[in-house]
Amino acid sequence: MSESTIYDMVIVGGGPAGMTAGIYAARAGLKAVILEENITGGLVNSTYTVENFPSYPTIHGMDLMKKMRAHVDSLEVEVEEVCEIENMSLEGDMKSVETDEGTFKAKTVIICTGRKPIPLDVPTECDQVHHCAICDGGPYKSKRVLVVGGGNSAFDESLYMITLGIEHITLVEIMDRFFAAQGTQDQLLGTGKVDARSETKVVDLVVENDELKAAVLENVATNQQETVPVDGAFVFLGQNPNNELFAEKIKLSKNGYIITDEHMATSIPGVFSAGDINDKAYRQITTAMSDGTIAALAAERYIRT
Ligand SMILES: Cc1cc2nc3c(=O)[nH]c(=O)nc-3n(C[C@H](O)[C@H](O)[C@H](O)COP(=O)(O)OP(=O)(O)OC[C@H]3O[C@@H](n4cnc5c(N)ncnc54)[C@H](O)[C@@H]3O)c2cc1C
Repeated sequence: MSESTIYDMVIVGGGPAGMTAGIYAARAGLKAVILEENITGGLVNSTYTVENFPSYPTIHGMDLMKKMRAHVDSLEVEVEEVCEIENMSLEGDMKSVETDEGTFKAKTVIICTGRKPIPLDVPTECDQVHHCAICDGGPYKSKRVLVVGGGNSAFDESLYMITLGIEHITLVEIMDRFFAAQGTQDQLLGTGKVDARSETKVVDLVVENDELKAAVLENVATNQQETVPVDGAFVFLGQNPNNELFAEKIKLSKNGYIITDEHMATSIPGVFSAGDINDKAYRQITTAMSDGTIAALAAERYIRT
C-alpha cells in the first residue's frame, strides 16, 4: 500500500467470509485488501476435522483454509496479516481504516470479524489456559488437563486431546447435564480417561511460579469443593462477537451481532458485513461464505451505481 492508494473495498477479517468476499471482489475487477489481525483462516484454523464442507467429505480445518488462501492469492488480492486496526471511520463516501500498517481508504468496507471464545470468569493469569486443543494441545501429551464446558466443542476437542496422548481429562459442566451429541459423549467417556462432572463449576485456578498446578472445583448442588491437579485448562464456553471496533457505530442486535438486510448491508451506507459477526441463526463455513459472496456483490453494485 502507498499512502495515496484508494481501494474499492477494505475487508476486515480474513476468515471464510472475508476470503470469499476477497475472491468475489477480485473477480469483479475491484481493488480489495483483506486486513487480518492474526493469520488468515479464522476459526476454521482451529477445527480439527471439517466434515460438512461440500467437495471434501473430510478435511483438516487448516488445510481447507490454506486452499482458500491460495485461491485468494491466485487472484492477487492484497492481504495484510498481523495487522492491528486502531480505528475505523465509516460514514461518508470515503471510508478509512487506521492500522499499525497505515491508513486504508476505500469506497466500501466489509466487516467479517467473526467471534471469539468466552473467557473463564475466574482469574486466568498464566500461559496454561487455552481455547483451542488443535493449537495448544500438543505440549500436554502424558499430562492432565481440565476441560470447561459440556457442549459439542468441549467433547470434540477432548476426543482430539485423547488422540494426542493426554493422560487424563477432568471435564466440568455447570448445568445438570451435558449438551454434546450423545454419540460423542459415549465415545469420549468410553476412553476411560475422562472424569466428566455436571453441576460443577471452576471457582479458582491454582498458579505457582506462573505455572498452573490445580483447579478448585465446586459442586453447585452441594457446594462441596475439591482441588484437582491439572497441568493445563481448555475453556469451551461458547463465543462472543468481535464487535469492539464498531460497537458504537453500527446497529447491533441486543447480543452484539451486526444487523443486516438480505444484501448484507449494515445501518451505514457502503458498509456491509458477513459471516459469524452477523445476527443470524446458523453459523457455519458455508453460511459465512454465502454471506461473503452476497456482501461483495452488493458492495460492487453500490460502487457501480
Ligand atoms: C470449535 C468450532 C468448530 C467448528 N466446526 C465447524 C465445522 O466443522 N464446519 C463448519 O462449517 N463450521 C464449523 N464451525 C463454525 C465456523 O468455524 C464459522 O462459522 C466460520 O469460521 C465463520 O467464518 P467467519 O469468516 O465469519 O469468521 P471467523 O472464522 O471467526 O474469522 C474471523 C476473522 O476475523 C479476524 N478478526 C477479528 N477481529 C479482527 C480485527 N479487529 N481486525 C482484523 N481482523 C479481525 C479473526 O482473526 C478471524 O481470522 C466451528 C466453530 C467452532 C468454534
